[in-house]
Amino acid sequence: MRNGLGERFMERYAPTLKDLTPRDIISRAIFKEISEGKGVDGKDYVYLDLRDLGEERLNQKLPEITSFVKTYLGINPSETQIPVAPTCHYMMGGIPTDVNGHVLSDRAGTILPGLFAAGECACVSVHGANRLGCNSLIDLVVFGRRVGLSIQKEIKSRIIHPLPLQVENIVVDKINGLLESQCSESIPVIREHMQQLMTQYCNVFRNGQELEQTLVQLQQLKKRCLNLGVLNKSKVFNYELQEALELNNMLRVAEVIVYSALIRKESRGAHFRNDYSKRNDEQWLKHAFVNETPTGLKIKYKSLAKGRFEPEKRRY
Ligand SMILES: Cc1cc2nc3c(=O)[nH]c(=O)nc-3n(C[C@H](O)[C@H](O)[C@H](O)COP(=O)(O)OP(=O)(O)OC[C@H]3O[C@@H](n4cnc5c(N)ncnc54)[C@H](O)[C@@H]3O)c2cc1C
Repeated sequence: MRNGLGERFMERYAPTLKDLTPRDIISRAIFKEISEGKGVDGKDYVYLDLRDLGEERLNQKLPEITSFVKTYLGINPSETQIPVAPTCHYMMGGIPTDVNGHVLSDRAGTILPGLFAAGECACVSVHGANRLGCNSLIDLVVFGRRVGLSIQKEIKSRIIHPLPLQVENIVVDKINGLLESQCSESIPVIREHMQQLMTQYCNVFRNGQELEQTLVQLQQLKKRCLNLGVLNKSKVFNYELQEALELNNMLRVAEVIVYSALIRKESRGAHFRNDYSKRNDEQWLKHAFVNETPTGLKIKYKSLAKGRFEPEKRRY
């Protein structure tokens, strides 16, 4: 990594691992360099310099990055440096599950019968506060297989309980409401506002005051969503309808992220608070469970299941 002055700036942030430091730390370092005016030509990016690796090694070891930047930037990485900047890459946390993919409904580990989750949407709790590179694909292979095996085993013995009468009405009403609405609010306007809030205030650096304001604004956007409508009234392949439903879900997830980030008054992994910049194991070595209740979000905590290794201070 090189900043606009050509410096290998990671040497200053992580003298031992340098550019191979976990990416939450690299993201913060890039951000810091850019905000100090040391981005390339004072702009909002730095360089990833792969030129030393040479064409043959790049094609052999990093074929995806090589073809990606050739296609999208017209760059040959063996000759030219690649502009890079931090972006949202992965969601740590998610739907709580056990190691066989059963969805858990509470802190005690009560299984919600018949519901499974695997992959990025799930939280088996193997990644901690900062997932290490490549571990998502391992997660998919390991827990995808485990979920498949669990379903195979349980489907034969599972008693399928009858659904409550007309349970689908909640969804049907929501869809009909969107199709019939007068459309006083627009999907792209609200979505863009949410994206801008999350990018600006729930980024690699966060602080209490901004998170608090963001939470209020997200709640206002959620209220505005009640007046959301679609111009396309078709019930077949209606992407606008899909986007409207997704926007509601994204806003709920955004609210949960900001709410938990506001309450967690420490820094841990990818969650970095300028106003609480230290990791605080005494108070915060625990998982947050957020529930949606009629009076708003409620948070509860579950202590960490300790394995063979004690959590240690990160040293790079
Ligand atoms: C730029 C980038 C680079 C990455 N590089 C790496 C890497 O090098 N190594 C690594 O381990 N991880 C990497 N990751 C992370 C990894 O790619 C993801 O975590 C992983 O692909 C998630 O897989 P998934 O199947 O859980 O979810 P997804 O791949 O997101 O699949 C979810 C699917 O569900 C579909 N879907 C959504 N809603 C609905 C609905 N209502 N009905 C039906 N279908 C629906 C979506 O269309 C999608 O196809 C990277 C991520 C990004 C963004």
